[in-house]
Amino acid sequence: MTTVTEVETVRGPVPTAELGTTLMHEHVFVLTPDSQANWSDEWDEETRIADAIEKLTALSAAGVRTIVDPTVDGLGRDIRRVARVNDAVPGLNIVPATGVYTYADVPGFFAERGPGALPDLPEPMVDLFVRDIRDGIQGTGIKAAFFKCAIDSHGLTRGVERVMRAVARAHAETGAPIMVHNRPAGNTMAEVRRVLGDEGVDPRRVQLAHVGDSTDVDLLAGLAEEGFLLGMDRFGIDAILGFEDRVATVVELCRRGWAHRMVLAHDASCYIDWVQPDLLPFLPNWNFLHIHEDVVPALLERGVTQEQVDQMLVGNPRDWFERT
Ligand SMILES: [Zn+2]
Repeated sequence: MTTVTEVETVRGPVPTAELGTTLMHEHVFVLTPDSQANWSDEWDEETRIADAIEKLTALSAAGVRTIVDPTVDGLGRDIRRVARVNDAVPGLNIVPATGVYTYADVPGFFAERGPGALPDLPEPMVDLFVRDIRDGIQGTGIKAAFFKCAIDSHGLTRGVERVMRAVARAHAETGAPIMVHNRPAGNTMAEVRRVLGDEGVDPRRVQLAHVGDSTDVDLLAGLAEEGFLLGMDRFGIDAILGFEDRVATVVELCRRGWAHRMVLAHDASCYIDWVQPDLLPFLPNWNFLHIHEDVVPALLERGVTQEQVDQMLVGNPRDWFERT
């Protein structure tokens, strides 16, 4: 049994004891590079980098020491760009990920490689994910610290399963933890439990992202009891679930004794090209400061203790990265 006491970040390894207040699911940029190159006149590199520096500096000034950024293939990951931003925000740790983000098919790049071409060929994603953890991302020395995959409204498609099993196998080789994007409305968590269980993954190493979109406290408590870490990670996306419902779910899970199985975040970005810009004003709380300004005060007001808040923002992120 081993315990890891350092976690890889964009600016190199950091002792897990120094992660401090951590938002467990935020993005610097979410981009569609192919579409950006073909259609967009929104992107100006220097403007966007300056804007990201400003937003992350404000986050750092609010006391957040670390953000965990699950931006991988499918979300426009460019680690050099993130490093440029991070260089100008020295008080903030950014923890990078490896993996593939898809709800349906594997990216075209993988379509006719490995088992996509012939069933008996090995899955190339496994070694690529391990390379990101061990050697670095995109030819840099910046190493990923965890894996990311997704399952959404299409359920367990062939492509989703390929990625999920590749992540599980790369996890078995490296020990780095796994974050899975879920769609609680479709109870995708049941498929995650089955596939990762089949691969021998310990639920305590798995973060179920976006389960905070659900108000089914019994379901969530059951997942916590199995050992999964619950991502209460979309505070501010009120169009999916409103503020009061999100808060009430965390309050009730704390009351039932599950503060040690929850993490908090916004799933926000400095810039995301997935959303029509003039619609963003309809999500005024979807920003990096909402938890500190609104959510934590509301939790404390409704009976959650400061100790439980610290558990969710400091203790649990640290535990998740300390492999045991
Ligand atoms: Zn996300």
